[in-house]
Amino acid sequence: MARLGSWIKAQPEGIYVEPADAWIDPSQPKSKALITHGHSDHARGGHSAVLATAETLAIMEVRCGPQNGQALGYDETNRVGEVDVRFVPAGHVLGSAQIVLEHAGERVVVSGDYKRRPDPTCACFVPVPCDIFITEATFGLPVFRHPDTGSEIDRLLHRLHSDPSRCVLVGAYALGKAQRIITELRARGHSDPIYFHGAIERLNQLYQSFGVKLGELRFTGAATKQEMAGHIVIAPPSALNDRWSRRLPDPVTAMASGWMRIRQRARQQNVELPLIISDHADWDELTMTISELEPTEVWITHGREEALLHWCMTHQIKACELNLVGYEDEDD
Ligand SMILES: [Zn+2]
Ligand SMILES: [Zn+2]
Repeated sequence: MARLGSWIKAQPEGIYVEPADAWIDPSQPKSKALITHGHSDHARGGHSAVLATAETLAIMEVRCGPQNGQALGYDETNRVGEVDVRFVPAGHVLGSAQIVLEHAGERVVVSGDYKRRPDPTCACFVPVPCDIFITEATFGLPVFRHPDTGSEIDRLLHRLHSDPSRCVLVGAYALGKAQRIITELRARGHSDPIYFHGAIERLNQLYQSFGVKLGELRFTGAATKQEMAGHIVIAPPSALNDRWSRRLPDPVTAMASGWMRIRQRARQQNVELPLIISDHADWDELTMTISELEPTEVWITHGREEALLHWCMTHQIKACELNLVGYEDEDD
């Protein structure tokens, strides 16, 4: 009998699904690409044909220009070559999908990036039992346990209200994290205008066009220092220590990222208020998901593989690591 999943080839530039003649999240231009979500390490331009959710295609068009795309809705099955392909919510960012592949009586789930906790900006992760689960492991160490999101948002609001003469500048990735922080603030009752850096404007608009409610947003470029005092400003992480921030009223620098668990990282980036808010599964979510899916094999990519590999071994689950290159955590 052939090895389980012998029709899936892990290559350095991505996962090749041979009987579909298609690549998943390839780092090089390919004739046919299945894209899990819009972060730039997964969704690159230059493919001849792209299959993705409508949201992911829209994100790719904003970031990489026009796509020869075919939009697949969640849960609809499409035949690609000799493979049944289905996109299922991954709970990571707007439009993010796990890709479910069925061929030769085997089911393989490629998770892409995912998380299990609720996110008001996207559909919740749907567990799909499978023979092979290909999982990310960005935070694949037991030290990574993300706290409750609501309590992190409360810390942010508490800091904001403690000094109305200052603003709180929150570093958040332009795709996903920025919009999630805004909606989480709204869910905690914060209805004041939120200021944004120009680099996140188009993605804010895109989220709104897909029905995500962000409340009143204002562009920092059109505001005075005085107007922004006592308010939250959202900017991409690269802007935190940039000249740009001088236009803000004595900003308290915050950063929303799973990496903020590591104090040293916060210090290196001059972050005064580290907020541990991540769009990736933490250690408990990774191990819980594997326990729940009960796959025969786990293939691990994209992060700290060793600890999860060891965890699988001690739980009698066959596991291996895939050496894909070019996946940086744009999105943490
Ligand atoms: Zn991602
Ligand atoms: Zn990723």
